Amino acid sequence: MTEIQTTTSKERRTASRLADKFQPVEMPSLEYTDAVARETEPLYQKVKDVIPAIEWPVMAPYIKAINDLKKQRNAVILAHNYQTPEIFHCVADIVGDSLQLAQEAAKADADIIVQCGVHFMAETSKLLNPDKLVLIPDMQAGCSLAASITGADVRLLRERYPGVPVVTYVNTSAEVKAESDICCTSSNAVQVVESFGKDTVLCIPDEYLAKYVATKTDVKILAWKGHCEVHERFTADELLAYKEANPGLEIIAHPECPPEVIRVADFTGSTSGMIGYVREHKPAKALLVTECSMASNIAADTPGVEFIRPCNLCPHMKRITLPKILDSLVELKDEVTVDPLVADRARLAVERMVNLKS
Ligand code: SF4
Repeated sequence: MTEIQTTTSKERRTASRLADKFQPVEMPSLEYTDAVARETEPLYQKVKDVIPAIEWPVMAPYIKAINDLKKQRNAVILAHNYQTPEIFHCVADIVGDSLQLAQEAAKADADIIVQCGVHFMAETSKLLNPDKLVLIPDMQAGCSLAASITGADVRLLRERYPGVPVVTYVNTSAEVKAESDICCTSSNAVQVVESFGKDTVLCIPDEYLAKYVATKTDVKILAWKGHCEVHERFTADELLAYKEANPGLEIIAHPECPPEVIRVADFTGSTSGMIGYVREHKPAKALLVTECSMASNIAADTPGVEFIRPCNLCPHMKRITLPKILDSLVELKDEVTVDPLVADRARLAVERMVNLKS
């Protein structure tokens, strides 16, 4: 039987629009030459404690090719704190948590934004800078929180709780953001909830973030049952056992963790808050209760801090790899678009958050 491959008319229109605007480029050489070794040596020095020397000859040609193509294409790479060290330290132009990446996406003046993160982050970049070509190296990079709720769910919540403001975590689809009053991230959720001056607020979809916010404010918080599949796996017993085995260990947690985990933590904050805490306090031993690439990424510039690493990987973040980033820049794929009718309303919710004064 012959397999017939079809191309939709939408795909054909997109390809022809991109071909009009951007010149085709050849796939660069991926040979590990002396010149590539020399040029990438300063980058290897940044990651040598977390990337074995034997792996560098495979990574270095991709890193050089990506950095060259970024200039050629006038592209910028935004990478989340959970990306692997070779992406975070060697090809990213901007790194940060969801809020920092959203703020940087809004300001980006490159022609192309390559989002090294998950799909909702790329959608947020497109919402805030709609004239740019926004690419994600793997369209399947999703998020269990974003998948936990739909726009129809939010409409039902509004019917059930009329007049109650809806604060939506950025880890949601544009469709869900469009049904919301404002977005929040884990670094500004309390401020956003209190910005309404109301006694009750819906804080969706992360149940644990909502419970954490409720401990920090007098506003009554109504939650949804969404969870991050990475943070919900940590337990208080596991962390207490690490503490007992490592005297002086400081436990630094993300607010997407279950409440019993947050109760045993020495500090709780967004990924940028966690990084700031380690840089400022320089604990002798630290355990970051979050996706495990983050410890590798900050180990490079916090010598003297020993990281104890229970490893919970985000399978969605880990879909982004150097070969896929290179493909993305060569072939200009996969483009992230948002229906204009949804985008206008979703953008309002994100912009209200970004413009909120601290
Ligand atoms: S770590 Fe959790 S919240 Fe972040 S992208 Fe992965 S599943 Fe989503």
